[in-house]
Amino acid sequence: MNWLPLYHRSNNVKFIIFGGGQVAQRKVQTLLKFDVDVTLISPKLMPVLQNLASEAKIKHLASEALQEHVIAGSCVVAATNNSAVNKSISQWAKALACPVSIADDPLNSDFIFPAIVDRNPVTIAISSSSESPALTRYLRNQLDAALPTRIPQLANFVSRLRKSIRSSVENTEQRQRIWRKLMSSAMPNLVLAGKEDQALVISDSVIADKEQLGQVFLVGAGPGDPELLTLKAVRLIQQADVVFYDRLVSPAILEYCNPKAEMRYVGKAMSDHAVPQEGINQLLVDHAKLGKTVLRLKGGDPFIFGRGGEEIEQLAEDGIPFQVVPGITAASGCSSYAGIPLTHRDYAQSVRFVTGHLKDGTTNLPWDELIHPQQTLVIYMGLTGIVHISQQLIAHGMSSDTSIALIEKGTQPEQKVYTSTLAGIESVISTNKISAPTLTIIGDVVKLHKKLIW
Ligand code: SAH
Repeated sequence: MNWLPLYHRSNNVKFIIFGGGQVAQRKVQTLLKFDVDVTLISPKLMPVLQNLASEAKIKHLASEALQEHVIAGSCVVAATNNSAVNKSISQWAKALACPVSIADDPLNSDFIFPAIVDRNPVTIAISSSSESPALTRYLRNQLDAALPTRIPQLANFVSRLRKSIRSSVENTEQRQRIWRKLMSSAMPNLVLAGKEDQALVISDSVIADKEQLGQVFLVGAGPGDPELLTLKAVRLIQQADVVFYDRLVSPAILEYCNPKAEMRYVGKAMSDHAVPQEGINQLLVDHAKLGKTVLRLKGGDPFIFGRGGEEIEQLAEDGIPFQVVPGITAASGCSSYAGIPLTHRDYAQSVRFVTGHLKDGTTNLPWDELIHPQQTLVIYMGLTGIVHISQQLIAHGMSSDTSIALIEKGTQPEQKVYTSTLAGIESVISTNKISAPTLTIIGDVVKLHKKLIW
């Protein structure tokens, strides 16, 4: 390897940058994040650099007599737009034993600027050894998006803990054992979720070598397209030791799990409860009590017709650390991917989510409230009862011409959208083989589908 990554203390480095254009500006902006002394040498400066100079954030020298400004021991950046000038700057600098970086000339440079992911005090520096700046930027953006924003808080928490463990535990091996346990406990995720009090309780019990509880993540997997997962969902999905998932979670999303994780299907089609609800609640508790990191992955949003509330009740009672991560619910996913806005100033000022399947198998809904004009109805789990539901809405006063859309496997490659009127839905159902999961949207907004589908 040709480039050695090191972190250099910033407050005793002097940078002399030759150039006043965009390249110089990029370097200056990076350097100013650190406590370094920057002198810019250029007859002309871009406006941003001019401002920095007038605010005294950088020193500016307009002199063209370049040589005299190169001070022994400084880091020199040759960033003019003239390669012959850059070359001579580098020669003077090298004669004074100054390390040099020449813009677009890594072969003749002593140092290069990495791309930086900033979570101060944690920084990640990335370089492709100057082979591919575009790749470096791409990786930087990927890492930046994937890393939680609260890493600085975690770094500070860990640093405080480190001091206290150092003073209370003398044996080095024991300290290492404690750190291994701490970093695989619920502590990091609790701090990242802003729950430092709870993190402290967990840390104290790890340090006291008490039996460790695991943690449970109740995560919404969205309606199917894996790119609709939240960043937090992806991060937590990757950490799980054991995963309990149901039918609505698409296989592409399960691919994000750790390949070593134990995968447990717990059903959830209406007629197929591979594991009954109470069984699922208990499984989460049992595995967390074994110290495992447990992922309960549910389609859509766990708190919208997902029984997410029931699944965490027992965890809360038993004091097991858990987090709930919202997901994109079927109503949002299907409406976006079908070009049917749920509200629209001309057609609907409110939207109502209803279940078409009640606990006792009936659809005893508050019909009079559902027929309100200028309201969009979204019916979850309503496929089998949709003809009955449409008839009831008409019987309670909704126009039989009201538009209705059935969205089958929304957001997935197999998505299909069927539109009709309430009166016509029976024939749509009988002439097409529509299967679950299917979401129903009723209201004038459905008319926009033809125009807004993408
Ligand atoms: N918690 C889930 C809903 C679970 S109820 C959420 O927030 O989306 C299950 C019902 O959701 C299905 O019967 C169907 O009506 C709807 N649904 C879920 N995913 C869907 C999808 N990809 N396409 C269409 N409907 C979907």
